[in-house]
Amino acid sequence: MIRIEYGRATWRDRWNLLLGMLKVVLSGKKESNFRRKYRSCRGCLLFDPNLRRCRPYTGSEAGCGCYMPFKIALGGPCWINENFPEDEAGWTRDGL
Ligand code: SF4
Repeated sequence: MIRIEYGRATWRDRWNLLLGMLKVVLSGKKESNFRRKYRSCRGCLLFDPNLRRCRPYTGSEAGCGCYMPFKIALGGPCWINENFPEDEAGWTRDGL
């Protein structure tokens, strides 16, 4: 994902990604909340199911471009809800 978005991945990027993955595995996040949010993302028009990211295609300005399993597990917000709070879309559409 980092390579697609920025052209190359540095050792620091890889280290941060590894730390994030360890944090997710060790944190024991509530699975039900995770599943509800991820299910909501899978029904979103901005979700790319091939890369599991919040961006419909590479080069699009819509979506944050994050790998959603990690973003949800680390407590990140929904991109639509952050940028268009008045719209009934994203996670708020599903009551999250
Ligand atoms: S906009 Fe919100 S619901 Fe849609 S893919 Fe991104 S985080 Fe998920």
